[in-house]
Order: sequence, then structure tokens, then C-alpha cells
Amino acid sequence: MAVPRYWREIPQRYNLVGTKCGSCGKIYFPPKVVCPTCRRKSLGHMEDCALAGRGTVESYTIIYAPPPHFEGEEPYTMALIKMDEGCYLMGQVVDLEPQEIHIGLRVEACFRRIYEDGTRGAIQYGYKFKKMEEAETP
Ligand SMILES: [Zn+2]
Repeated sequence: MAVPRYWREIPQRYNLVGTKCGSCGKIYFPPKVVCPTCRRKSLGHMEDCALAGRGTVESYTIIYAPPPHFEGEEPYTMALIKMDEGCYLMGQVVDLEPQEIHIGLRVEACFRRIYEDGTRGAIQYGYKFKKMEEAETP
């Protein structure tokens, strides 16, 4: 799994920046140029929108047979997270035992090393998720 060029090229690569449709208010991540719902109506009305990084686990899978670059990390957990802003992100959930994960778990984004490219020594960073620590104020 390659980290999109996007993360390396934009200065806000350590923030989760999506776009908000100025027409219907829906938030997208990764950013979109056009809202798939509003189409032409949204042109020129898509605005950058930083996500707070908090969400809820909707679905998950535990990886026992990892792809290259992730060997040695198994077992690890990949989850589909519904962000509080309404969009979905897929990411690794770190700092918890596989049996701790469950649907409905509140998580927050954190930035971690994704993998080290052995041949070039380049370290790729990106977002992962961890269990939300402090209690939330509703
Ligand atoms: Zn829209």
C-alpha cells in the first residue's frame, strides 16, 4: 500500500484536511474538487475543512498475513472509521490489543510511521488511529 503523494506534497500533510461542499455541507476526505451529490452546483464552492480527527469504529478486520512493508507488525487491526464529520476513513488502529477493538469504539487520529523503505531509507508517515483517551464532553 503506497502512501499517496498527496501526504508528502502538501504542507498540511500532518493534518486531516478534507473539503466541505458549500452547497449541501457534506464533508469529504480525501478532498474532492466536485461534490458527487451536487455536481455542477458545487463547482467553486468546495472549501478546505480540517477534520477534528475523531470518529467511531464502524467495521474492522484483524490482519494476520500482512502485505510487504508490514511484515512483523501482525497481527494488527485495520478499521473503517466514521468520522464525526460524516466521512469514512480506513486506517490502522494502533496501541491496542486486537481483542480490544469493537464496533462503536471511539478513536482519534494520530500520525505515525507507516513503513520504512529499506532500499532508500525513506520513512513514510501518515495517519493511524488510537483509542480515544480523555473522556469526551458531549
Ligand atoms: Zn454537495
